[in-house]
Amino acid sequence: MKTVTILGATGSVGTSTLDLIEREPEAFEVVALTANCDVARLAAAARRVRAKLAVVADATCLPALREALAGSGVEAAGGADAVCDAARMDADWTMAAIVGTAGLKPVLAALENGGTVALANKESLVSAGEVVMRAVAGHGATLLPVDSEHNAIFQCLEPGNADRISRIILTASGGPFRERGLDEMRGITPEQAVAHPNWSMGAKISVDSATLMNKGLEVIEAFHLFPVTPEQLDVIVHRQSVIHSMVEYADGSVLAQLGSPDMRVPIAHALAWPRRMATPCQRLDLTTIGRLDFEAPDYTRFPCLKLAREALAAGGARPAVLNAANEVAVAAFLARRIGFLEIAAIVADTLECYDPAAPATLDQVLAIDAEARNIAGERVKDCVI
Ligand code: NDP
Repeated sequence: MKTVTILGATGSVGTSTLDLIEREPEAFEVVALTANCDVARLAAAARRVRAKLAVVADATCLPALREALAGSGVEAAGGADAVCDAARMDADWTMAAIVGTAGLKPVLAALENGGTVALANKESLVSAGEVVMRAVAGHGATLLPVDSEHNAIFQCLEPGNADRISRIILTASGGPFRERGLDEMRGITPEQAVAHPNWSMGAKISVDSATLMNKGLEVIEAFHLFPVTPEQLDVIVHRQSVIHSMVEYADGSVLAQLGSPDMRVPIAHALAWPRRMATPCQRLDLTTIGRLDFEAPDYTRFPCLKLAREALAAGGARPAVLNAANEVAVAAFLARRIGFLEIAAIVADTLECYDPAAPATLDQVLAIDAEARNIAGERVKDCVI
């Protein structure tokens, strides 16, 4: 029996994780499930898997959660600190699938146990890569990448040959607007932006995929997870999302991981690691797919990818500022307060006018995150659509 906790259990990744766990009830025991405020979904899942604890980050939702769990034997708790307490509970395996920087403290709390943390929450590595990786080493914890690209790279890593990696090639579907001109992108609606052609995901990452900021965040994430320099991280657009990423070695060999675009594949890999488990995911049928296409990313139409690469190259606080400004801009776009192209403009402006010193501690990261959010928030107010 593996004991598991799912942070962000009501989201897209959280739900996929639950799906796998519920298929093998004899193999997993659920310690805690957390959400922000989706009480109905959280309580239903907690009852089904007989979790010990269910937590809502938004404390105002706690009375509703208590009511929904009445008589179930599942304990209820509320508030951001309660999410961190849940993350600290003894679990062999924790899925970190909260969206955004809200996931950072819970990730660090989960690492304190020295257990295994499966990381979907890329924003925590982008804004606080050094702090998180130090915590992994300091607590003797294991961090397993769940993002499909990073999980693919992880699967292509050869033990003993880390110093023989010449390049990591992250694949990108290109998002729903891969072929649109800049003028056409101006009027894009949130509904169009979240309709990803290959993957079913939460709203924030779907918009990040449409701007290619997601690929930029992933380049930064890969830099922290794998032994490469920023220059060794390439991005290639591969519209079919069949090859999830590749590792090129010194001898010219390129190893790739392939699979259907279903997050349950990388989640299952992390859940069963170092073994493998069965999934109900569709098998790859390459003759039906017929062809695989590749092209270079267009940094002019997708400036977010360029901004992220520049932030990584500059290092220090730049990735944290980029990430915070992007979260504010994406939320404003989803709320119809700014246009699609203004996401990149707001991130660029925030980076332009805020360049703090590199953070060394979690508190410094959080202070930079808060200030970048203020600046980006002011810039949102200037936008009229
Ligand atoms: P969703 O928006 O679908 O789910 C987010 C989860 O986080 C929900 O459980 C939500 O609770 C919870 N949450 C939101 N805000 C807070 C908060 N302030 N405090 C605590 N919990 C909160 O996101 P995804 O599942 O799509 O993505 C989760 C993470 O995984 C992101 O970092 C994303 O980049 C990454 N990822 C996602 C992939 C995907 O396929 N979806 C692929 C690779 C990476 P509630 O439901 O109550 O709002």
